[in-house]
Amino acid sequence: MVNKKRTIARGLCASVIALICTAATISASAGQKLLNAGFESGLDGFAARANETVSRSSAKAYEGSYSLMVSDRSAAWNGAAVLLDNSWKSGETYAFSCAVYQASGADVNMKLSLQYSDGTDTQYVQISAGVVPSDTWTVLSNPTYEIPAGASSRYLYIETEESLCDFYVDAVTCEIPTQYRKGDVNHDEAIDSQDLRAMLAFLQGQDAVVNLDTADMNSDGRINAIDLTILRRHLIYPQRYTTTTTTTTTTTTATTAKPELKPGQWYNTADVSWIQGRKTVALSFDDGPVNNDNANRIHAALTKEGFHATFFYIGKQINGGNQSEIQKAESLGFEVANHTWNHDDLKGASQYKIQSEYNQCKDKLNSVLGVNRDYLVRLPFLGYDNNVKQFMPAPCPNCGIDSKDWARASTSDIVKTIQDAARGGYLNGQVVLMHETEPATVAAVEQLCPWLAQNGYAVVTVSEMFKVNNKDMYNGNTYNSCW
Ligand SMILES: [Zn+2]
Repeated sequence: MVNKKRTIARGLCASVIALICTAATISASAGQKLLNAGFESGLDGFAARANETVSRSSAKAYEGSYSLMVSDRSAAWNGAAVLLDNSWKSGETYAFSCAVYQASGADVNMKLSLQYSDGTDTQYVQISAGVVPSDTWTVLSNPTYEIPAGASSRYLYIETEESLCDFYVDAVTCEIPTQYRKGDVNHDEAIDSQDLRAMLAFLQGQDAVVNLDTADMNSDGRINAIDLTILRRHLIYPQRYTTTTTTTTTTTTATTAKPELKPGQWYNTADVSWIQGRKTVALSFDDGPVNNDNANRIHAALTKEGFHATFFYIGKQINGGNQSEIQKAESLGFEVANHTWNHDDLKGASQYKIQSEYNQCKDKLNSVLGVNRDYLVRLPFLGYDNNVKQFMPAPCPNCGIDSKDWARASTSDIVKTIQDAARGGYLNGQVVLMHETEPATVAAVEQLCPWLAQNGYAVVTVSEMFKVNNKDMYNGNTYNSCW
């Protein structure tokens, strides 16, 4: 029945799936799993969306001995779907999760999605998405997804963004959220900056009240920088996340619509509330991760003053031993950014070279951080030409003030360069070029952070500096300052 072949248009999916799916098994008490599909003894209500093949397989399993294999796909939206029956209430919030696996040999963007009817049209919305590396089980989850009010004919399904590769699905679950929401780290029934502070303190080894059930944002059994990142995003960009209601409170998070962007305009989501009218300077550090103490010292010097900075990482340099530096930078509110994959001079490079240098590094950063987004890019050797301008898919913060650390400037030279700029009245709004590889830079940053704080500056990320000064950035443009 499930392998029945159908050729249908996407818009007709709902009615066809309704014929071939059986409803998922349910058990509707609060806190219980509404869906728990492990494919150990059957298809657990899952079926093909179109004419692809959906079958049980013992070749791969995330849990137990079987998973669901999806093959013969002719479109990205071909996947495995299950009907959400009347046990699910539209307008209510649920925790969804699934494990996916593919062996295409390359990263594949995959999505856990919801198809539903709004009464007029069939809608397709993303519940969770992520980069799934080849030959690695990857969990896509959303602990607080609200099924749109009024939705009917609802199907949970797994698809790819573009790839037509075969894939496996296992451990598909849906639970009614428990009393406390993910993100309510301290269990006070609100998700706010106190939760963020508690998690940050916990990660820094200080005393803090942190509950695993609500602090483990991605439900991987650990509390780490990724959870802090998700929580930060949840607070800063609530529009990117679902609003949440619970069984115990009616609190809703504030929502802001994504602004209208001009072509090529950078979607700047920086939180600038902490800057509070101060002068700003964007210290930026190239050529990490460095796998030594430099990064820790720079992070600590910035954090001590409550400052942020931008770190441009070289993709091919990132490995299992140093990726925690990037996760830590992200968790401390710093801006993780792209310094290309190979660190080649892109002046004179082809469109393909420019974009693959950017994209390879972007994909690596996304997989390290467990996110899917774009990054500002620092051009290696600041190499720039018309091709870079035309084809680079992100803005290029450049060099308003050059620390000359790459030319072996001493600590006192670097300190003097920045202090002279401040005293001369031209530091505010500048992008400062530095390298986290240089010990002289590390010592200079340790001296400069308290001095800049005393002199009325906030050291901020590039995105924060542009946002707080109401300036836009555009893909392929270089920026020495925000003016
Ligand atoms: Zn560099």
